Amino acid sequence: MARIVMKFGGTSMAGIERIRHVSGLVKREAERGNQLAVVVSAMAGETDRLVQLCREAASLYDPREYDVVVASGEQVTSGLLAITLQGMGLNARSYMGWQLPIRASGHASALIDHIDAEVLEKVFEQGGIAVIPGFQGITPEGDLATLGRGGSDTSAVALAAAVKADRCDIYTDVDGVYTTDPRIVPRARKLDMVTYEEMLELASVGAKVLQTRSVGLAMRYKMPLQVLSSFEDRPGTMIVGDEAIEDSKMERNVITGIAHDKNEAMITLTGLPDRPGTVAAVFEPLAAANVNVDMIVQSVPRRGEESVLTFTVPTAALAHSVAELHKVREAIGFADILTETNVVKVSAVGVGMRSNAGIAARMFKTLADRGINVLAITTSEIKVSVLIPEEYTELAVRVLHTAYELDAEDAE
Ligand code: ADP
Ligand code: ASP
Ligand code: MG
Repeated sequence: MARIVMKFGGTSMAGIERIRHVSGLVKREAERGNQLAVVVSAMAGETDRLVQLCREAASLYDPREYDVVVASGEQVTSGLLAITLQGMGLNARSYMGWQLPIRASGHASALIDHIDAEVLEKVFEQGGIAVIPGFQGITPEGDLATLGRGGSDTSAVALAAAVKADRCDIYTDVDGVYTTDPRIVPRARKLDMVTYEEMLELASVGAKVLQTRSVGLAMRYKMPLQVLSSFEDRPGTMIVGDEAIEDSKMERNVITGIAHDKNEAMITLTGLPDRPGTVAAVFEPLAAANVNVDMIVQSVPRRGEESVLTFTVPTAALAHSVAELHKVREAIGFADILTETNVVKVSAVGVGMRSNAGIAARMFKTLADRGINVLAITTSEIKVSVLIPEEYTELAVRVLHTAYELDAEDAE
């Protein structure tokens, strides 16, 4: 007998027919004698619809009320799944975030502080199946909170850690983690195993198959995580520690995967005075306004000349960032603020980078051969990212996938 948290994403929950199919998968695990907690997302498209309604109601809406609205999608699917499971003769019941409770702080992208395991332990003891809406928790004030887009993955892993589950299975609309988004590159290859570290990096640079925070939590609690399909019955991708991969003696590619992120906007400040403190004076107000600055490039001027500073922020924070910068323009003394939203960040990730030179050079050469201009660059120990014009997204991902020898062998 194993204790398993199963999580089903929006496509898997889109409509009664699919919810019935999900019930069949839950029933199969129950019949194997496993203890189950099931975490569900809202039906595909539902959260987008609810977010849009908030925007229509007011452009600057109250995050507390936003949470009340957007948390409702998961309430519907958890109830519906419990009903269909009961219809199959299973002892299932839904438990809202506040009923466990899942304690969280903040609104719209709340952090989980703690999950009480007591209620779930009782359910397991009595042979029941708990169905839990993903994405939601309850604040110390007793208000609803939501965990940020894609947050049901994080709900599932946090619950798995709280009840000390043997593993957490993330069922989605692809059959595992691929070398890149298989919807963009049909030659993408499914990975049998990925390390937590690589998955964390891939998720953080845009591979939306798992919410980044869920991978961070799984890594911290050493929770075995599996990504698999709700629609096809075949093994998925295991996300595991470094040791497991070393043990398996698999031959490893230097690069594990390519991801892209269109959610970046570029800001360029021109005519910056060349003196100590200028860059700090630009980024301090942005930090104070909670804006996460990502890529940064500064032109090094000749002594006494003015410099140019380019950096990226999340697209949603662009207007806010520009407003903050206008406030300090005179004090800093720069000339212009230029913005560009038609950009994309493309990244290559792999632990093999640590021991292999020339990874970045290969990226730049591959892009140059296609006439793609690189606007900014960042690197970490296991990642190289470039900012390029958005129109080249698919081409860049495809040619890099081929250049790093990631294409599936049987692809035509
Ligand atoms: P869910 O609703 O189940 O949470 P998501 O839409 O959040 O599903 O995530 C699954 C999607 O992630 C896939 O449909 C795929 O297009 C996308 N994706 C992006 N990068 C990858 C990758 N490297 N491997 C697999 N899927 C990826
Ligand atoms: N329904 C939420 C979203 O679409 C949470 C999730 O599906 O993970 O972002
Ligand atoms: Mg998701």
